[in-house]
Amino acid sequence: MLYGCGTDALRMWYRGVQCGGDERSEYQRIVGDDDGGKLFTPEEYEEYKRKVLPIRLQNRLYVSWRSPSGMDCKLVGPETLCFCTHRYKQHKTDYEVIPEDRPICVPCRVSRCPCQSYHYVPLNGTQPIRCRCKHFADQHSAAPGFSCNSCSKCSGFHSCFTCACGQPTYAHETVVETKQERLAQGKPVGQDVPYAAMGGLTGFSSLAEGYMRLDDSGIGAPSAELLESPITSMDHPFLKAFQGPSSSAQTVSQIAGSSSATGQVSHGKHSEDDDMAYFEKRYQERLQKEKAAKRKEKSPVPSKKP
Ligand SMILES: [Zn+2]
Ligand SMILES: [Zn+2]
Ligand SMILES: [Zn+2]
Ligand SMILES: [Zn+2]
Ligand SMILES: [Zn+2]
Repeated sequence: MLYGCGTDALRMWYRGVQCGGDERSEYQRIVGDDDGGKLFTPEEYEEYKRKVLPIRLQNRLYVSWRSPSGMDCKLVGPETLCFCTHRYKQHKTDYEVIPEDRPICVPCRVSRCPCQSYHYVPLNGTQPIRCRCKHFADQHSAAPGFSCNSCSKCSGFHSCFTCACGQPTYAHETVVETKQERLAQGKPVGQDVPYAAMGGLTGFSSLAEGYMRLDDSGIGAPSAELLESPITSMDHPFLKAFQGPSSSAQTVSQIAGSSSATGQVSHGKHSEDDDMAYFEKRYQERLQKEKAAKRKEKSPVPSKKP
């Protein structure tokens, strides 16, 4: 037999790989697109993990979209779309050695995409936002300068679309930073995770948009007054999102996918929400385990031997 009789873990891993469909397996979250669409053998998978996981834990890059006040209004995750219409996970997110130059560039890996570094651009509900030239974000080139493909008067994408923080889009910047750089600013780094392209997701506190997060990366929770005020269709999408689970995120990714000129958005059916739910679940599981481990440490009862 090629792979021996296999442990339970291996069988489960293969089942995860084979089930595909709606549920992405641990394998897919760890490997991302790095297998070039051809599944690794268990040996290749182990080799990949041996090589990549230490790099990922050591050199993780945190990506967020920051307002002039220093607040992270958006934490970029694997499925978050770039200005180039590709997802964060389609960019070069693993670095064996972190570049010394700042800003750190996270170029797109999709062939022929001119994107030289991940650049977050918000959506207006489900629609791409407009540039001051009146054309949509995705009508612009993803090459440096972000010139408009549909007119000649545009001097590069520039949008006044207002973020939930009250600042216009153009005043924000996409920030790529190391764990040390974040720690130095007192920003949360979350727990170490083996998954690919985690970007700015730092666990539970990442689930809400910047101004709703209670962690110290933001300005704290908004007033109860703001959160409890009636939500209308005129409100900002962040506020509407706070209203609870909705199918809008799915629509966002579908629309974003179909409006992409290249049609290269892969795994379109995986929304950011799916990822959030998954990582949240794993995060809670880990917290539980850690709590249990701590209790065990404290308890004088000797651990039982199998
Ligand atoms: Zn791209
Ligand atoms: Zn890009
Ligand atoms: Zn323009
Ligand atoms: Zn234009
Ligand atoms: Zn903002």
